[in-house]
Amino acid sequence: MSDYEFGICPYDKTHRIMLFRMPKHIVKCQKNYRGPPLKICKYNATHRVLDMEEHLKECPYYLRAIGYQSVQIALTTRIAPIQEDGHDVNTPL
Ligand SMILES: [Zn+2]
Ligand SMILES: [Zn+2]
Repeated sequence: MSDYEFGICPYDKTHRIMLFRMPKHIVKCQKNYRGPPLKICKYNATHRVLDMEEHLKECPYYLRAIGYQSVQIALTTRIAPIQEDGHDVNTPL
C-alpha cells in the first residue's frame, strides 16, 4: 500500500499528491489558487499547464490518444495509470 506513484500538484509545487487522489485534490487546490490561470489538458483533467502546446509534446495521455506507442511504453514505467477499480475513490482528503 506504500508504492503509489506521486505527482506534483499543478497549483502548488510543494504539494506531492498520490496520483489516484489528484483529481479531488486539484478541485480543492484550484479554489485557493491565485496565480495565472492554467489550461486544462483535454486528455487528462489533472494536467493543468500554462502552455498547452508545450505540455502536449510530453503528455502521455495525448501521445497515447494519437497512437504514439513508443512514447507510451517509455512513460508507463514511471507514470502509473489512473486506478479505476474504485479503490479509495471515495476516501475524503
Ligand atoms: Zn495542491
Ligand atoms: Zn496532459
